[in-house]
Amino acid sequence: MQWSSGNRDDIQDMRGRSGGFGVAHLGIGGFLLLLVLSWVSGTNLFSLLGTGTSAPSQTGGTTGQVASSPAEEKLVDMVGAVTKDAQDMWADILGSRYQRTKVTLFRDAIQSACGFAQSATGPFYCPEDGRVYLDLGFFDELSRKLGAPGDFAEAYVITHELGHHVQNLLGLNERASADRRTGATSASVALELQADCFAGVWGHAASQPGRAAAGKVELDPGDMEEALRAAAAIGDDRLQRMATGRVMPERFTHGSSAQRVEWFRRGMETGDPRSCGVGAATTR
Ligand SMILES: [Zn+2]
Repeated sequence: MQWSSGNRDDIQDMRGRSGGFGVAHLGIGGFLLLLVLSWVSGTNLFSLLGTGTSAPSQTGGTTGQVASSPAEEKLVDMVGAVTKDAQDMWADILGSRYQRTKVTLFRDAIQSACGFAQSATGPFYCPEDGRVYLDLGFFDELSRKLGAPGDFAEAYVITHELGHHVQNLLGLNERASADRRTGATSASVALELQADCFAGVWGHAASQPGRAAAGKVELDPGDMEEALRAAAAIGDDRLQRMATGRVMPERFTHGSSAQRVEWFRRGMETGDPRSCGVGAATTR
């Protein structure tokens, strides 16, 4: 993937502020258990517990000193470039219905409007404040533990979360929250697959030649495979098998590997959000 560095307008950098606060009273056993369960279920169980009430609130603004490496700064530039590029695309598609957001970078833990979150929760979107939250350490997990390296795999993760922002702006998630079903057939899994498809729609846009010369993100040959590998790597069936040795479709939160691949590919091939199952809602 090619991108130009230096544009961080769409990033809120909280790496120098966030820290492992507010969890001591949980006890280390309960803490570890919650980490594992949050990871397997895709739900931030810390926020359900309400541990956020004891964490200091963050008031925004600029951060203090950030201890970082050149490699990490390059990652920040990539996140900035991808976020800007994808948001430019959604602004083109949705016009005035699109409101730009920011990706908040944090380390270890953060207080969002959706509660206190640990890095182990993975990247997430908070509908309450309309922001994407990302600990760059997740990309290490994706690469080493889950076997899905590469910058376009990382871009897929970012644009999936931005897909939830689009759903929020269009009210698609509200419709789904009325659905009480859980597991593989639930509306929440359908929303996740739609976010995968939206990520693919951006992948389609980024695959057009000549973009790099115009300062935009442009895919390289092989990038598509990278993202498909990532989609397969974070399917519920694979994560469950890794964690427990069993597959439990009734506990699916994001869809199976095959489904995630299918929906990402659908967006990537059509480049049209209407193919992502939302009908006229995404046309101007
Ligand atoms: Zn999601």
